[in-house]
This record gives sequence, C-alpha cells and structure tokens, in this order.
Amino acid sequence: MLPFKLIYSDDYYLPIGAHVFPAEKYRRIRDQLLATGVAEVSDFMTPQPATDQDVLLVHTPEYVRKLKTGTLSAREQLELEVPYSPELVRAFWLAAGGSILAVQHALKDGVAINIGGGFHHAFPDHGEGFCMIHDVAVAIRRMQRDNKITRAMTVDCDVHHGNGTAAIFAGMRIPTAALPSTAAPTVGLAAPAKVRNAHAGDVFTISLHQQNNYPAWKPLSSIDVDLPDGIGDDDYLAWLDNALSSGLRQFEPELICYIAGADPYREDQLGGLALTIEGLKLRDALVFRVARARGIPVMVTYAGGYARHVEDTVTIHCNTVIAARGVFAGTSDTTIESKQSAK
Ligand SMILES: [Zn+2]
Repeated sequence: MLPFKLIYSDDYYLPIGAHVFPAEKYRRIRDQLLATGVAEVSDFMTPQPATDQDVLLVHTPEYVRKLKTGTLSAREQLELEVPYSPELVRAFWLAAGGSILAVQHALKDGVAINIGGGFHHAFPDHGEGFCMIHDVAVAIRRMQRDNKITRAMTVDCDVHHGNGTAAIFAGMRIPTAALPSTAAPTVGLAAPAKVRNAHAGDVFTISLHQQNNYPAWKPLSSIDVDLPDGIGDDDYLAWLDNALSSGLRQFEPELICYIAGADPYREDQLGGLALTIEGLKLRDALVFRVARARGIPVMVTYAGGYARHVEDTVTIHCNTVIAARGVFAGTSDTTIESKQSAK
C-alpha cells in the first residue's frame, strides 16, 4: 500500500475521437500501476466533479456559461483543439474535482497524485491547446477560499509553456534582472537557456519549457526557463534544480502543484527536448526530494504526453508514482540513488 493517494476515475477519459492526445492513457496508467504491483486498488480514490462555484473562482461567468450551454464560437472551438461536447465538459469538471481532492490529500499526507489534470493552457475566459478549464488553478483557489492555504507554487515541467497558469496568477509584476544563481548553473551547460523572472502574487509560477514550441505568446511566469531545442537529461535537471532553488529562495509556499508532463521525452511527437525515460524519473524525484526536505506538500497532475508509442507515455507517468514512493515511503530506488550520487 502506498503512503499517499492516487486520484482517478474511468470518466477521466476525454471523448475526443482519434487525436494526438491519447485519451486512454489515464486508464492504462491505472492498469499498469495495478499490474506491476506499484499500487493496490485501495490506493485509488474517485473524485467528484468540481462545482460550478469552484470553476468560477478562476474562470469568467461568460466562459462557463458558454461551456455549459454549448455556445462557444467557431473560433473558440478551434482554439480548444479538441471537439466540444457536453461529455467533454463533464470530463474537465471531473479532472478539476480530481485536482481539488488531490490537494486535500496532499495537505494531509505530504503528497497526492491526480492521474489526470494539468490543463495548464486554459485561461480565465477561454480554453486552448486541449485545455478547457484550468484544474490546478481551480484547486489552488478553492484551497485559498477554504482557508487551507495562502501561498502556492506551481512547478510546470510539461514541455509546453504554462501560459494559462502565468496569466491566471499574474500578480504585481516587477521585472528583475536574471537571478545571480542563473549566471552560475550547477553544471556546465552546452546551450544556455534564457531565464525570465518576475515578482509573484500569492501564487508563484515556475515553468520549464521548450522556447521554440507552442504557445507562441508566453505570458511571464514568476520564473520562466526558456530551454533551447534538444536539451538532454543533465542540462534539464540542472536547470530544474536551479529554478527550484531560486523560487524557494524568493517565496515560501504552503503547497507545490507539480505539473509532470511526459512530453519533454525525446520521442515525443509534440516536443523538441531530448529527455530519456530515466531522466524524467529523476526529474520527478528531484521535485519530490526538494519538497519533502522543506516539508512542503506536493500535488501532482499529469498534463501532456504524446510519445510515438503510447506505452512510453504510460511508463513515464507510472514512474512518477514510483519516484514519489521512493522519496515519501523511503523505498530504496537504486536507479535514482546511484544516478544522483554520481551527479
Ligand atoms: Zn505539453
């Protein structure tokens, strides 16, 4: 039995037909976790959909009304890049409910994983890039409304920039020079990434992403690490380490929302970075170790993953659970331990 909860529903399935987004991945992740003995049935919890009131903490009444009544314009439907249906609306409301439940359990157990969610391209007044509503933002605003937390940090490691997250949580921005720490990365980096930095409000947003990729317009996060094409494991992990250290020097969150996209993988169809499956597992372990060392609860969502072979995407997502078990249960994961000590 895992020392934390996995949030899942069969109804996470997105009814979008044949699509580059593998909507069946959620069920396959669950099946693989059970088949490999990583998780037991009792580790899973089934969420309820978010209420409209929850969704309205982030999204505009006009946009919510359009979604509920099926009255998006043709352009708004195109921007979403997934075919609108009332069933799809229900699936996104359920994913948001899953992220709320995951945060509630993360605050109790130190970590919880939503086997779904991470829809970081949704804005208050529109959806885009396969993302209808922003489940992570809804969960954060709900916890703030319930007085469970005041300050949260998002750590977005999907290969695509977290544009919706940045827009939703844009606070008072005071552009600053690059952080001193960014001038001296922890390892020699072949191709320097560009780091942008801005002052945050009550939610500090970090995004590590490929610069030459969707979305074209990248609103400022608190820390943006604009990675050049083709970055591999070692450089990526160094930049992540750097961004986490910088962020946690500037801001003391009571919750970390980790968006664990599988698409920095080198065989991803929509990504241009070059991480290995093992490197992605080390990435997850790094986030978990940093959070655990500082006693900050972590809620995880899965976001994108478009590997040529869906089983790779499923494995990468399952490894996130294994990495969390390694860090939070103290289960010795020799691969992670040996790689890290060698670094
Ligand atoms: Zn993505």
